Amino acid sequence: MSRWRFAGLATSAPLCALALLSVSSCAGVPRPPEPVSPPQEPPVVELKLDERLREIEPPGPLAPRIHWTPAVPDEGSLVVLTLEPEPRGLPVFEVRARARDRDVALSSLDGGAYFGLVAAPLNVPEIPVEIDITLADGTRITRRLTLLVETLDFAATRLRVASRFTAPDERAVERIRREREIVRAALATVTTVPLWNGAFIMPRDDATTSPYGQRRLFNNELRSRHTGLDIRGRTGDPVYAANSGRVILARNLFYTGNAVYIDHGLGIITGYFHLSKHEVTEGQWVEKGQLIGRVGATGRVTGPHLHWGLYLQGAALDPSTLLAPAFARISDRLPAPTVIVE
Ligand SMILES: [Zn+2]
Repeated sequence: MSRWRFAGLATSAPLCALALLSVSSCAGVPRPPEPVSPPQEPPVVELKLDERLREIEPPGPLAPRIHWTPAVPDEGSLVVLTLEPEPRGLPVFEVRARARDRDVALSSLDGGAYFGLVAAPLNVPEIPVEIDITLADGTRITRRLTLLVETLDFAATRLRVASRFTAPDERAVERIRREREIVRAALATVTTVPLWNGAFIMPRDDATTSPYGQRRLFNNELRSRHTGLDIRGRTGDPVYAANSGRVILARNLFYTGNAVYIDHGLGIITGYFHLSKHEVTEGQWVEKGQLIGRVGATGRVTGPHLHWGLYLQGAALDPSTLLAPAFARISDRLPAPTVIVE
């Protein structure tokens, strides 16, 4: 049985009122990389044209083929969306997409195809997706779909940390509030072209010690979820950028300690927490594998380690999904980014 429910199809003449990101707009980025090759990946899920679409005037290439991978995403996954407009007939002028009422930045590929990334966050069993296509003659097509997400059983654990992290005083509460806004603004960064370069790598070549999604009880009083992946390391061990991009935050924060956030483009942001030392500054461009910090035990921790996080569309996802073969393959098809401006 298909994991997709086809929830509607409509054409509309007026311009969409939603503040969508255009695939052609590249605000803040001097030069988008030129796509070099069309996607070769076989579709995991393909949605056929609805019969009603064929009645639209003018007839022809009105429906893109839509592929998603993984076909059945787990909670916390990164989902790769690929759109392939029919090659016959009228050209496509613009393609826009939204998921969970958030913009999905799309990147064009050769052959008129596009791809974008959709977040499947924890505790969200269904993700509404809307795709808007504008043809060269102004005809607009909207497809609405619902992506069904596989829920998982996550392990639970008890942890003991300094009491100031479970019962912060008034001053700390104010700091936490202030920092939450800073991080939220940083995570809202969407660079509309990919800045990453080929497949992602682990920021440390070491064992993972605590998985994403784990249910946690701190000091027998505070329930929380582990929204990243912990990697083993001793204080001072190197931490490397999982891919190229721009450092959007590099500072000390209450819970995450010395933290680095890197914008990799198309909405992908990775985070590296609890560092003993920063090796980069905010605004800096970093290459894949570049030293960005040192393992430490700053912030809410039980000991030295690296916490690695992945953020997309405001959701904290499992960073190991960046290493999934499907994502690595689409990453390999992108050219190296040419955007290096200090
Ligand atoms: Zn962690």
